[in-house]
Amino acid sequence: MATQVSLDDPVQFIRGVGPFRAKEFESLGVTTVGDLLEYYPFRHELRPKSVPIGDLDSGSIATVVGELRGVRTRGPLANQSVTARVEDGTGSCHVRWFNSPFLMDKLDNGLIVRLTGKIEQYRDSASMTNPALTIIEDDEEPFAGDADRYDPVYAGTAALPPKQIAKIIAEIFEAAIPAVEEFLPEALRRARDLPPRRDAIERYHRPTSLDDVPVARRRLAYEELFLCQLAMRISRRKLAAGPATEPVRITDAIDRRIRQRFPFTLTPGQDSAIAEITADLAKTRPMNRMLQADVGVGKTAVAVYASLGVIANKGQVVILAPTEVLAAQHQAKVEQYLDGSRVRLGYLVGSTARSARTALLAALGKGEIDLIIGTHALLEKDVRFSNLRLVIIDEQHKFGVRQRAELRSRGRAPHTLVLTATPIPRTLAMTVFGDLDVSSIRGAPPNRKPVVTRLVRSAKVYDAWQFVRSRLEQGEQAYVVYPLVEESEALPLKAATVEVDALAQGPLAGLTVGLIHGRQTPAEKKEVMRRFREGEIAALVSTTVIEVGIDVPNATIMVIQHAERYGLSQLHQLRGRIGRGSRKSYCLLFSESQHEVANERLSILCETSDGFRVAEEDLRIRGPGELLGTRQHGLPAFKAADLVTDVDLLEQARDDAAALLAPDPGLRQPDHVRLRTALLRAYGDVLELIDVA
Ligand code: ADP
Ligand code: MG
Repeated sequence: MATQVSLDDPVQFIRGVGPFRAKEFESLGVTTVGDLLEYYPFRHELRPKSVPIGDLDSGSIATVVGELRGVRTRGPLANQSVTARVEDGTGSCHVRWFNSPFLMDKLDNGLIVRLTGKIEQYRDSASMTNPALTIIEDDEEPFAGDADRYDPVYAGTAALPPKQIAKIIAEIFEAAIPAVEEFLPEALRRARDLPPRRDAIERYHRPTSLDDVPVARRRLAYEELFLCQLAMRISRRKLAAGPATEPVRITDAIDRRIRQRFPFTLTPGQDSAIAEITADLAKTRPMNRMLQADVGVGKTAVAVYASLGVIANKGQVVILAPTEVLAAQHQAKVEQYLDGSRVRLGYLVGSTARSARTALLAALGKGEIDLIIGTHALLEKDVRFSNLRLVIIDEQHKFGVRQRAELRSRGRAPHTLVLTATPIPRTLAMTVFGDLDVSSIRGAPPNRKPVVTRLVRSAKVYDAWQFVRSRLEQGEQAYVVYPLVEESEALPLKAATVEVDALAQGPLAGLTVGLIHGRQTPAEKKEVMRRFREGEIAALVSTTVIEVGIDVPNATIMVIQHAERYGLSQLHQLRGRIGRGSRKSYCLLFSESQHEVANERLSILCETSDGFRVAEEDLRIRGPGELLGTRQHGLPAFKAADLVTDVDLLEQARDDAAALLAPDPGLRQPDHVRLRTALLRAYGDVLELIDVA
């Protein structure tokens, strides 16, 4: 190739990639040649060195080179198979390909081919079924490059199959690989015993032996984790060095007054979280803390404590919830806690009337509101505060790193507290939320009975409904949950609607069955929730809108349909909606799966009520993207690193990042320049946004 290839060249520059394939690549996160080199194979297929046909062993994977003879098609057109023999003078091997309608056009007697496949015995000769085929052209030397090879296998799409990707990568590989440059400082690379970047990328795609693969992967995983840790540390440091904030002092008198607001004594877990938050608030550097605790453990109370502390110091507070239902719940709860106090509350959601909104924003701007609760509506540009000092974000993972930075920019260095009910395994916390300090409250919620969880297979469904019915007849209430298929609520919605009728006419006949789903207007949802809360509805059929935040103590039963389609953490969160009253609660996981593995996975929930254990299991099974919801939420896309198995590597990377930045926080040293460029390339937007704060 004559022209110089740059890693920044768009993939469309490669021969064989037009606008259509470029779009497909984009969906795989690949837009440039550099991205393509970082599109690593997920496994390698052995293509062994060829052997004489006379020496073939039955049962082995082997490559033969020889001449095709007796090429024939068999069977009906729709289901054609091709048979042939390949001969090399030492013997003859029978070959057949099933369902390969295009192969017939390519194959001819007399062609020289290389075939790799599993050797079986067929009558008297060796045989291969559906072997990989390379046709050797007339001008090619049949044994050129004949050695054990490991061909990369890439994850593809329907429109861009793995083989196509391999071909496109092969097209550019030789020309592109010299452009790969090292960015790790040499001393560090050597100390960690990592191969150079170019070698690693080359070996990952083109291993000479399978031993190359883990070595290459480790290097590439390390660099991802290292960059991530650098980015997290730098953004933390920027925040710390940013504008100072006035300390919030929570005196003993204030503390006493706040505690009197709660109709209960705070638990030791809540107290220690409050102690950490109070210490943060007393500093001139803005707090940036995540509070993680299982559903129902009492995060809201902690958030209200922090809010009242700030309000007592004449600051304003915003509580941001991901949905209107949740915002309304917070609003109701906070009103309860603040009943009779002088705290001025505001509430702003998408459906707030325009006139009310105008008045609210005016009051907010004049400092006539102390605490405002709402949804994304609070992120709009014209929402201004007179003295915003604390931002509380509920259900963190529904908002990303970017939105967090955006909200922070609304005040003069306000404190941030994020609440999450998904217990985040340590590796994830270190990577995705590495810029946050973490307070965890472990253990069961106060006054909470563990939820008895049972797996219900299809054969037992009838009995299960009889059980539910008997409970409802005693005045208890149930949730019946349908899986929400991402992006489209149409499917489960239909299922849920059908279910309402089926239940009302079948197992729950005579009881009131209600329906709540994501397509209803906020007013409709609110009304359904009111009827459920007040006991007018006995069984509430829903898509997963109840996943977060709804609190109806009389609801003691949860039936989850198609439980096998959910992640474990999601199921765990769902069941946290029950077990809130004094009576024993039951979560029934209906599974239609015949797969033992799927059911075994679900049985973890029957064994433990520890959300951290559940989350770790989830991370192990499904990976971080699934655990946290979708990808847009600031989750770094690791290509080589594996957050489940790379714990040691991650800790190494974290320590190395700290050691490297200590003497050179801005990465200005000459041997850190390349690293700096790589970092800005990977995390520039995050670092910049955080700069704004
Ligand atoms: P989370 O936000 O963690 O899901 P909440 O703050 O909504 O949990 O609390 C869940 C329930 O537990 C609420 O009804 C709340 O009133 C109650 N609660 C919170 N803290 C305590 C406590 N220390 N003692 C008793 N009940 C509590
Ligand atoms: Mg909550």
